[in-house]
Amino acid sequence: MKIETDWHIHSRNSCDSASMPVSEIVKIVPSKGISKFGITDHLNTRINMPDIEASRKEFLENKVSGFHFGIEISCVSIWEIEQIKKGGYEKAVNGIREGGPAWADMTVDITQEDIEKLGIEYVIGGTHWPLYVPWERESLIKDYHRQNMFLAQHPLVKIVAHPWWFYAKYWGKYVDRFEPWFNDFSVIPQSMHEEFADAVVRNRKIVEINLHAIILHPSYPEHFKQQYLDYLSFLKGKGVIFSIGSDCHQSYDLDFEKAARMISYAGITEKDIWELSDEDLKNRP
Ligand SMILES: [Zn+2]
Ligand SMILES: [Zn+2]
Repeated sequence: MKIETDWHIHSRNSCDSASMPVSEIVKIVPSKGISKFGITDHLNTRINMPDIEASRKEFLENKVSGFHFGIEISCVSIWEIEQIKKGGYEKAVNGIREGGPAWADMTVDITQEDIEKLGIEYVIGGTHWPLYVPWERESLIKDYHRQNMFLAQHPLVKIVAHPWWFYAKYWGKYVDRFEPWFNDFSVIPQSMHEEFADAVVRNRKIVEINLHAIILHPSYPEHFKQQYLDYLSFLKGKGVIFSIGSDCHQSYDLDFEKAARMISYAGITEKDIWELSDEDLKNRP
């Protein structure tokens, strides 16, 4: 197994302190043996739209063969989109993280028209934060599963980003480093994995294997990573197809060989790995 694609790269336009100019991305990524790849900056809510416009501009100025234009959107609450519409939240680049109703109805703040206008070739959707539920294990698990399910069924989303990623900066602030599921991934009920796999396959979505933010994450416990590879293996058994995403925000110096070994260990081969095809482009929403 060799990693030759990367569909999740952030440029300096991303709201979350990513730093690579697109001109650098198109040089360094192919130099690591990656022949097909795309940039996917964050759109949490419409507040980030100028970032995506800046990325599109840089993309067009640096177009090379095998290079594509995607986006990473977040599952957010309808409540926060309504709040943002009222104005006064211009600095909330990560949306509104406090004050909403627990178990809020979900949405993504992008439309079909935005996708066409910006020339977006594929959409990655991610669960990035709890939607106002209590900060304890059971609620966080239910909430993340609910969001992953929402993304797996959303017509504008092609790839479900990093299932069960959890922002390490939340550790210590709200939860222990080993919560909500890092000391034992099996605290997540298997029925949730079954339900998610079924939704992914039924809706012809792709599940991302995230390198930097999950399998090579510097702070995630090794035991968790091991269990996560078993989870990927389970998804493969259900017929899930995967995309590779480095989720690179700064310098592009990941250990691709180690990641490839881990993916192989999960029994995943080149045949299970998705790449953007002409058919995907033709059938895009
Ligand atoms: Zn993400
Ligand atoms: Zn990302």
